[in-house]
Amino acid sequence: MHAWEVSDPGPVEGQPLRYVEKPVPTPGPGELLVHVRTCGVCRTDLHVTEGDLPVRRPHVTPGHEVVGVVAATGPEVDGHAVGDRVGVAWLRSTDGTCRFCRRGDENLCPASRYTGWDADGGYAEYTTVPAAFAYPLPGGVGDTALSPLLCAGIIGYRALLRTSLPENGRLGLYGFGGSAHLCAQLALARGARVHVLTRGAAARRLALDLGAASAGGADGRPPEPLDGAILFAPAGELVPVALRALDRGGVLAVAGIHLSGIPPLQYEQDLFYERELRSVTSNTRRDGRDFLALAERHRVRATTHPYPLSRAQDALRDLKAGRFDGAAVLVNDLEPRGPVPPA
Ligand SMILES: [Zn+2]
Ligand SMILES: [Zn+2]
Repeated sequence: MHAWEVSDPGPVEGQPLRYVEKPVPTPGPGELLVHVRTCGVCRTDLHVTEGDLPVRRPHVTPGHEVVGVVAATGPEVDGHAVGDRVGVAWLRSTDGTCRFCRRGDENLCPASRYTGWDADGGYAEYTTVPAAFAYPLPGGVGDTALSPLLCAGIIGYRALLRTSLPENGRLGLYGFGGSAHLCAQLALARGARVHVLTRGAAARRLALDLGAASAGGADGRPPEPLDGAILFAPAGELVPVALRALDRGGVLAVAGIHLSGIPPLQYEQDLFYERELRSVTSNTRRDGRDFLALAERHRVRATTHPYPLSRAQDALRDLKAGRFDGAAVLVNDLEPRGPVPPA
């Protein structure tokens, strides 16, 4: 099969990824072999490719927003059958036994492993996934539209939960890419007033089209104080900016896995009056299931930009340069040369 590998982590303007031929993987015990139909392009893939995140598996295949079809099952799999459409997301496995897993916080499991970082992901014709971590997907929505929901959507949902936004609250979104534009739709559907602060003119237009109350520059001030804010841009310098935009008791959640340095905070100006700064770490499977159900109910739709699988490196370059609004999605347009699931 064809697969992309991170051969030499570094700036994506170079050639950190290589398009290689390799055998179709064999699903291990409890795993599914998935024929990839689409795979969303997430900013975390860029961090893995550029080496912002440490190498956990040399020559890893990135990609953790996979919509595909079960092509084969390993031993000891139940609940999934060949031909089922499934989603493969970022959280690949946990130990299920530590204190965090036992109390329902499996996103904090110290033994957690991640698709497209610890194990090969979806920038390929086939991938594998532990069956217990594969998501059943709602019918009626196409593969391309579903892909970005699997990380961008789920993480945006968890970030929204982390803001503890009150009923009909005022929400600020800093940065407006794949994750934020899905989060905005859900927040609006649930009654929030949404203010978007981002540098891209196209992203600001998309925000207003989706129903945001305002859309302005990333370092400006929203037109009213915020009850909650989410920092999607990986820019630590925006942390004090966003904290100062909060009303008393407001919460800022940082959604990214990687953030540039945060300037010193001033207690009175940035934190006093019980404003809070919170991080967001991965998600639980429950977040994923809840979000996919809510997304279906509220008709949350990703704005997508398809790229053929062979152009993954270009898609990452375009993501970094902010050349599209919404989310890029790789489409596997190759004739399958491995096991073929029934149509
Ligand atoms: Zn655990
Ligand atoms: Zn992601």
